[in-house]
Amino acid sequence: MADLPNYRPETLAVRAGQERSQFGEHSEALYLTSSFVFKSAAQAAKRFSGEEEGNVYARFSNPTVTMFEERLAALEGAEDCVATSSGMSAIMAAVLAHLKQGDHIVASNSLFGATVQLFNNILSRTGITTTFVSHTDPAAWAAAIRPETKLFFLETPSNPLTEIADIRALVAIAHAKGILVAVDNCFCTPILQRPLDMGADLVIHSATKFLDGQGRVLGGAVCGPKKLTEEVFKYLRTAGPTLSAFNAWVLLKGLETLKLRVEAQSANAARLAAWLEAHPKVARVFYPGLPSHPQHELAKTQQKSGGAIVAFEVKGAREQAWQVVDNCRLLSITANLGDTKTTITHPASTTHGRISPEARAAAGINEGLLRIAVGLEAVEDLQADLERGLALI
Ligand SMILES: *Cc1c(COP(=O)(O)O)cnc(C)c1O
Repeated sequence: MADLPNYRPETLAVRAGQERSQFGEHSEALYLTSSFVFKSAAQAAKRFSGEEEGNVYARFSNPTVTMFEERLAALEGAEDCVATSSGMSAIMAAVLAHLKQGDHIVASNSLFGATVQLFNNILSRTGITTTFVSHTDPAAWAAAIRPETKLFFLETPSNPLTEIADIRALVAIAHAKGILVAVDNCFCTPILQRPLDMGADLVIHSATKFLDGQGRVLGGAVCGPKKLTEEVFKYLRTAGPTLSAFNAWVLLKGLETLKLRVEAQSANAARLAAWLEAHPKVARVFYPGLPSHPQHELAKTQQKSGGAIVAFEVKGAREQAWQVVDNCRLLSITANLGDTKTTITHPASTTHGRISPEARAAAGINEGLLRIAVGLEAVEDLQADLERGLALI
């Protein structure tokens, strides 16, 4: 972003990456075209060989997608960004671009469910193996390293218990052995946390969540230095899980309000967490912004606020937790997160329902646990909605 020196995030969110056409449109254009024409046979040849820069085919690049990539790269402080069709395809692309048969991943044991499935059931078939270790214990990561370990993979705060992985400590351990570090930054977004500034090599996004922020489209991205993203791009242009122009256009508009939304949703979450912690029917609250969070001090060193995800245990088990969910009229009963509309989930019977009860208990996901992804509604209205069910306990 040589043309955007030192602009602050709110400026980058609305300005970075825009390329105007000859029509001088003020808002970013949506280029719904799968291929691009050339002025001559000679130009076509140069574009295909890479001798001349420019668009060829939308599996390789599209101007609307490029604008989204440049805007997100600017926000993450990344040299480059490549967009993908979803968060999962971003993870798949990042891993397959840099690892091969026989390579090994060390990953956090509290990753997004589909990421665990991807590593265990799909990447394992290619001969890439994964060892899952304690999210919060850097010594366990160091102990799991093998000669063939190529990647540390983490996301922080974790879902749903909001445990914090120490990004700087894990980067130091990995880099001492020449291992890459990829951070899924979906929960914090670059507004609250910039892993590349802390030494991480790649940042991965599910753009479906806060970057869109209004629950409309799927998308993903991999950000980092060009020498690493170039390999991801080579995978994408051949394998094909690229972002559609329409989704990129929606996401560009999403990024424009990212800072406002994430800060407001995080402030709402902080108020809701404090209210829940003082509630007589609540046994425990998990929120990095609360001083009672075991890693509150670490969280303060790497994220600007507690974020918009709050988990809490009601006094009781599944029946009491479901009672709270079923008495919500405002909160949406859905597993999505990062939306302007607040959502509520019972992890033990939904997102973590396929894990054995023993493994769930070991992970600290009890039957009384609920997760709220806080949106933009008035906190008082959210409290009244939750109070209806809590009062019945
Ligand atoms: C949703 C999510 C993903 C997967 O993203 P999709 O866009 O649904 O493919 C990956 N990581 C985290 C942390 C997520 O919340």
